[in-house]
Amino acid sequence: MTDQATENVKEKVEYQTISEFLESTPPNQLINISNLCKPTRNQYGPYGEMRTPEIQLHCDNDQCNGTRFFRCVSGGGEHLKDGNFKFFYVTYRCSNCQQVEKTFSLAAQMENITKSQGSCYKFGELPTYGPPIPSKLIKLIGPDREEFLKGRRCENQGLGVGAFIYYRRVVENQKERVSIYRQSR
Ligand SMILES: [Zn+2]
Repeated sequence: MTDQATENVKEKVEYQTISEFLESTPPNQLINISNLCKPTRNQYGPYGEMRTPEIQLHCDNDQCNGTRFFRCVSGGGEHLKDGNFKFFYVTYRCSNCQQVEKTFSLAAQMENITKSQGSCYKFGELPTYGPPIPSKLIKLIGPDREEFLKGRRCENQGLGVGAFIYYRRVVENQKERVSIYRQSR
């Protein structure tokens, strides 16, 4: 294989922005980030200052109940290095109600001490990661709520087969509910 061909076969590295990563990447994945930090230096040498731009998340506070801007209130500006993971927490607060918070547990390292790219691992977040579940849906599912939520937790963590098992139970139970309902009419 020529050098040119080897170059073409090489997998293209995919990058996410730090906002995309925080907003919509499920935990337990190491992701390449295009704008992880701002390369800078102090008397001890170069380092990267972790970026924590504002992000958009669902806020379930009564006065918000929708997607709102969240701003970093603690853990921002962490000093990062290349070839060495730094472990830390970052907390965001809803800019609208100023009450709802989201905390991320992260590990991050720079790709190169002079560049803004790097990689970030999300151990988890509190409240738990996941798109909001409409209350109408929860009501509709009724007695199978717990099974459904277990499936949802699996799905949010990328465990598709696990989620399928729970969802299938929900569908089978609901099938019986529907036929009992039909017989009683
Ligand atoms: Zn809010």
